[in-house]
Amino acid sequence: MIRLTVSSVIFLYTLFSVIIILVIWIVSGYRLAKRVLPKDVDYIWKCSVCFNTYVDSSHDDISICTLCGSYNKREK
Ligand SMILES: [Zn+2]
Repeated sequence: MIRLTVSSVIFLYTLFSVIIILVIWIVSGYRLAKRVLPKDVDYIWKCSVCFNTYVDSSHDDISICTLCGSYNKREK
C-alpha cells in the first residue's frame, strides 16, 4: 500500500486542480478562437484612409466608411 502524508496529498490535490483548470482554459480558448466564421469575415471592412474597422453586410464591392465617409474597395 502506498503511504501518503497529509502534505503530499494536499500537494497532489493542488497539482491536479491546476492541471484541470489549465486544460479547461486552453480548450475554451481554442473554441473561442474558432468561433469567427468565414461568412462573418466578409462583412468586416477596414478603411484605407482612417483604418477604422466596421461591419457592412449590405455592400459587396464598395463600402462607405462609418467614421470618415470615404469609399473603400474590396481587396481580393
Ligand atoms: Zn474611414
